[in-house]
Amino acid sequence: MNSVLVTGGAGFLGSHLCDRLIEQGKNVICVDNFFTGNKRNIAHLIGHPRFEVIRHDIVHPIYLEVNEIYNLACPASPVAYQYNPIKTIKTSTVGMVNVLGLAKRCRAKVLHASTSEVYGDPTVHPQVEEYWGNVNPLGPRSCYDEGKRIAESLCVNYHHAHKVPIRLVRIFNTYGPRMDPNDGRVISNFINQALRGEPITIYGDGQQTRSFCYVDDLISGFLKMMEQEETTGPVNLGNPVENTMLELAEAVLEHVDSSSELIHEPLPQDDPKQRCPDITKAKSFLKWEPQVSLKEGLGKTVEYYRQLMDQESA
Ligand code: NAD
Ligand code: UDP
Ligand code: UDP
Repeated sequence: MNSVLVTGGAGFLGSHLCDRLIEQGKNVICVDNFFTGNKRNIAHLIGHPRFEVIRHDIVHPIYLEVNEIYNLACPASPVAYQYNPIKTIKTSTVGMVNVLGLAKRCRAKVLHASTSEVYGDPTVHPQVEEYWGNVNPLGPRSCYDEGKRIAESLCVNYHHAHKVPIRLVRIFNTYGPRMDPNDGRVISNFINQALRGEPITIYGDGQQTRSFCYVDDLISGFLKMMEQEETTGPVNLGNPVENTMLELAEAVLEHVDSSSELIHEPLPQDDPKQRCPDITKAKSFLKWEPQVSLKEGLGKTVEYYRQLMDQESA
């Protein structure tokens, strides 16, 4: 029976991945230290005969018998990963070594969740996988960006030295239900501000761009990448439709039917000015491209946050 380890399985992306793997009939072991993860994301899976959860921090070794590993453990929102930058670095370095050591011993395939942040504040637009990036190695984002760059290097070197099968995906901004409402990311902030009738906080002039992928599309990309016989990657996974933060704010206000005003706050240091994936590789190697529009995805996400607020106020 195929056993799959999902590190960071109680987080936003990890919990959706666990759902899809269970649907596929896999045995799933979710490992999470619950730093940014939440039990409510996996509550519906507890008691399922093919699902197990272990509270564990990947910075420490772990011994399990598995065939496939999805390594998602790492805080993803700037607020969360800057809370304890040294811990963030350890997770992407020491934690990655432990995951690769486990994969080496079990001869398991590893899909590693890398990020568009390896491109930093990009000078090439849209970003292709060949671009080496423009990362400030000393800035407040470096614990995340440089950690993820080392993690990629570790994967490639375990592949070369020990033949560990690796799959590298570089994820661009992804959103949807189960994103922590308080994690400070732009979609969770804007929707929750709009639902509460609070001002929408635009950092800087709002002309910076991001490209937002709906979670279900991204998880389909993960599964296709894991199935690949040849491609080790890196492969960009994201939605190539690019929006400014002002456009996003307008779209959210339309969905929530809110009268929140827009206010401007200072742009965080090293905030990338533009970000958009070139997904030519994903299209050709994986036959993958996003299916869910921003309008449809925002609708589902707004619905989730509404329900969460109703539960919290009940
Ligand atoms: P998330 O914060 O919701 O999930 C991360 C999970 O990892 C959480 O459950 C957290 O508790 C767990 N975790 C963190 N450190 C750990 C450790 N040391 N040991 C064990 N568990 C640990 O974030 P997410 O959006 O679901 O992101 C998942 C992965 O995808 C991350 O690696 C992130 O860097 C990557 N990624 C996400 C996005 C995005 O837009 N969501 C974009 C690029 C990359
Ligand atoms: N490791 C682990 N689980 C395993 C195998 C290894 O957590 O099932 C950890 C172990 O702590 C080790 C790290 O992964 O430090 C790297 O393993 P590797 O075999 O590459 O290195 P070595 O043991 O030779 O240092
Ligand atoms: N942002 C914003 N208002 C917010 C939160 C974020 O304008 O309340 C901006 C942020 O400065 C960045 C973009 O939205 O330009 C995306 O931010 P997020 O933290 O979601 O992700 P990342 O910067 O890692 O892409």
